[in-house]
Amino acid sequence: MKFKVYGRTTVNVITEVEADSPDDALEVALSELNCLVPYVGNCGTDKLVGVDGDNDSVFADDEIEWTSAEEMESDEDESVPGIVCSRCKGFVQKSVNPVYSYQCLDCDEDLYSFEVEQSEDGVHDNEP
Ligand SMILES: [Zn+2]
Repeated sequence: MKFKVYGRTTVNVITEVEADSPDDALEVALSELNCLVPYVGNCGTDKLVGVDGDNDSVFADDEIEWTSAEEMESDEDESVPGIVCSRCKGFVQKSVNPVYSYQCLDCDEDLYSFEVEQSEDGVHDNEP
């Protein structure tokens, strides 16, 4: 079985501000940098966090606390032997959408049973 496991950790943030007192500095920091944003990179928008300024730092240096685990849809990458997409002739998978029978990952479409056909080569297991 495959699980998606969720966790959290502490991220440290440092910024430099002009202020009259430590309390004032906290206020200024809050007004200048009040959230972290996801950065695009490492093949996604949920892999990196970042800051814009040269004087700002964000870094993680803590243990991860794993809080929950969720079983993933196991049939998500289950190909259907011998059935191909009518459009691209690629092998289809079972659809995760109950309304449809199949899905074609190449066309990025959910397919009804009349939108697929039997593979001419017979049964394949979709291995390269
Ligand atoms: Zn297709």
